[in-house]
Amino acid sequence: MSGDVSMDAIVSLCKRRGFVFQSSEIYGGTGSCWDYGPLGVELKNNVKRAWWRDNVHLRPDLVGLDASILMHASVWKASGHVDHFSDPMVDCKACQRRFRADAPDEIPWTHYCPATKGNRFEIPPGEPCRHCGARRTLCPACGKGELTAPRQFNLMFKTFMGPVEDEAAVTYLRPETAQGIFVNFDNVLQAMRLKLPFGIAQIGKAFRNEITPGNFIFRTREFEQMEIEFFVNPLDTLDGRPADEVWHERWIQERFAWYGRYGIRPEHLRLRTHEKGELAHYAKGTSDVEYRFPIGWSELEGIANRTDFDLKQHARWSGRSLTYYDEERKTHVVPYVIEPSAGADRSVLAFLVDAYREEEVRGEKRVLLRFHRDLAPVKVAVLPLLKKRPEIVRVAGEIRGRLARRWVATYDDTAAIGRLYRRQDEVGTPFCVTVDVQTVGDADKGEAGDGKVTIRERDSMEQIRVPIAALETVFAELFDGAAWSGVAGRYPAARP
Ligand code: ATP
Repeated sequence: MSGDVSMDAIVSLCKRRGFVFQSSEIYGGTGSCWDYGPLGVELKNNVKRAWWRDNVHLRPDLVGLDASILMHASVWKASGHVDHFSDPMVDCKACQRRFRADAPDEIPWTHYCPATKGNRFEIPPGEPCRHCGARRTLCPACGKGELTAPRQFNLMFKTFMGPVEDEAAVTYLRPETAQGIFVNFDNVLQAMRLKLPFGIAQIGKAFRNEITPGNFIFRTREFEQMEIEFFVNPLDTLDGRPADEVWHERWIQERFAWYGRYGIRPEHLRLRTHEKGELAHYAKGTSDVEYRFPIGWSELEGIANRTDFDLKQHARWSGRSLTYYDEERKTHVVPYVIEPSAGADRSVLAFLVDAYREEEVRGEKRVLLRFHRDLAPVKVAVLPLLKKRPEIVRVAGEIRGRLARRWVATYDDTAAIGRLYRRQDEVGTPFCVTVDVQTVGDADKGEAGDGKVTIRERDSMEQIRVPIAALETVFAELFDGAAWSGVAGRYPAARP
């Protein structure tokens, strides 16, 4: 199978192999927050590192920022979140469960069927009952209660700053990282002496009291965003067109291409331009990068042209000037802003889903994650062919130690070699290094080792024989992007 994988298969692999666990699982779990395990934290850090390197380090026109999660309460009034950051929701009058107004028809529904003496059925979303033909009119969860008319529900988590829990101390956990960038616009501009156009990038936690969290790490109440605010001079033109519109298009292309660069298959990615009626009143245009998740096509990242709305709002509420002095035109301008806003957790999910493959190898099922080398949580696994031979174990330990200074490298001797390879395939480790009798020789028989080890590549399962002394050079090339075939061609093939 090279295409579709179910969400259940991903969730189960993630738990079994230490990528993602349900938060507070021993207490029954929360269902809306997830914890990243030993491999998950490496994967997520790699996704964030790739994003940061490509945007902040490689581009000359971007700088980074790490603003606090708790901010002055006025920030959220100025940004419009206190008044407008809400979803319409409906409540069940019987079981009191709450749903997004648009959600009840998108989830399976519980039905007590009159045609089968009131038997209880779980019916797929949007479908009628097969026995009586009825469609859902009651609560999808309990199947008994009527739903209330939609009411607005603010998605921000409210909390108190300081020891007194009164209205004056109310603030919110940030529902997006972007506002930390806007309120620091002038600090960054002055400190770094920047010239338009330039961007400020930030990765950090955001919190939304989503009415219907779910679909694993796709929609959670605590998540991480990777956001850029790219400021453009509204008076500038590029090729005769407003510069903000050109930059918006450039960022849409750039962000779309980014996912492909790290291995997402082109047929699983698409762009969706928002209709005029969908746009926030201040937005000039928005396009989403969508991924074909197991739940269907859904947003991975939004790229919006937010005009000068945010800077103007913060200037008005704070009383501070948030402008840029255009030296050529001798005038102050309020920059327009292009905002590529991605979810780190949704990206992790997309990379996991896209990397998943099931193959048949010599009559056996092989599950593998074909992660891009930059994203793979473990880069090299060092494996002893025989764990009862102390010399083999010692050499394998030494190799791991040396490689671990540059790349995440593990050692595993808890099964036979075939099993160990399969386990590394399943977590996406691009290369295994195997130390065997030939490597170390046999002192009892007076046989010297050849000082060579086997490198096995995950996707092709090809194996080559490489001197231990050359390992670091070989991996430096491979992790710098060299094709396996080019490197492998320089060494003799080893027997699989
Ligand atoms: P959605 O329509 O899915 O709720 P949104 O349009 O509200 O998303 P944005 O406010 O544009 O999302 O946030 C930017 C990105 O942050 C999204 O593209 C997504 O990757 C991520 N994100 C937003 N909400 C969540 C959430 N509850 N859980 C995980 N990631 C999220």
